[in-house]
Amino acid sequence: MKLANKVALVTGAAQGIGKGIAQTFAAEGADVIINDVRCSEKTDELADWIRQQGRRAIVVQADVTKRDEVEAMVERGWDELGSIDILVNNAGIETIIPFLELTDEQWSDVTTVNLKSGWLCSQIFCRRAVAAKRQGAIVNIGSIQAAKVLPGRTHYAPSKLAIEALTRNVSAEMAPLGIRVNCIHPGLIETPMIDWVMKSPDLLPMVLAQISMGRPGQPCEIGSVAAFLASEEARYVTGQSFYVDGGWQGK
Ligand code: NAP
Repeated sequence: MKLANKVALVTGAAQGIGKGIAQTFAAEGADVIINDVRCSEKTDELADWIRQQGRRAIVVQADVTKRDEVEAMVERGWDELGSIDILVNNAGIETIIPFLELTDEQWSDVTTVNLKSGWLCSQIFCRRAVAAKRQGAIVNIGSIQAAKVLPGRTHYAPSKLAIEALTRNVSAEMAPLGIRVNCIHPGLIETPMIDWVMKSPDLLPMVLAQISMGRPGQPCEIGSVAAFLASEEARYVTGQSFYVDGGWQGK
């Protein structure tokens, strides 16, 4: 197992890609801190599933854009599980608003959740790991939209492209301290976020035609790459961004 005896914090893990990553990590031997902004039966069921795999799991409700809530979450993880070795900055939101109509507030909402949270959670995770003299790994979740233009994403796409720069810059400062930082740019992954695409008889064929493999990805297919990047197998990999998109970006 790639992640035996590791503790991972996955943000936005109630559903979708975060849930898939949490499940993959548990199957690879990790204990998991399941975070989401709203905790519910979905997060409780995921925690039960992880415990059934023989791993430990705790659910922590926290808004990843709020420093005090993230600090409390990280402290709780260390107190209850003894360490946090891996952080996955997955929480994100997407809205579709034409450029000429986009308001300051809409720009701020999306960039704060998608970009600021990655910086904030990474800083708090790293400060705690460095204080404990522990090594670690961060996996940031970007998007295919770092490279592809889709309509109405003049706020979302820059927030995701900037995660690449965040990844490179945090990785450079943290490498001497033993913390690696990498980024995955998912393509079309079947989650509640893109339910409307999957249900659109007009849009779905147009999108699938651009993907070399001709199908959407599944959350566990992001999870397996995240597990590799978080594991010792990737010990010489840092500061990199990887498209996991069935061949969409390169087509
Ligand atoms: P999703 O199904 O909407 O799940 C995202 C989760 O993040 C939700 O449970 C959401 O909670 C939570 N969240 C939102 N704001 C938060 C906050 N401030 N603090 C903590 N949790 C928060 O989305 P997904 O498709 O799994 O996407 C996961 C990540 O992959 C996102 O960063 C997204 O941009 C990226 N991505 C997705 C795709 C795709 O095709 N699905 C493609 C490229 C990139 P609520 O639902 O309660 O708001």
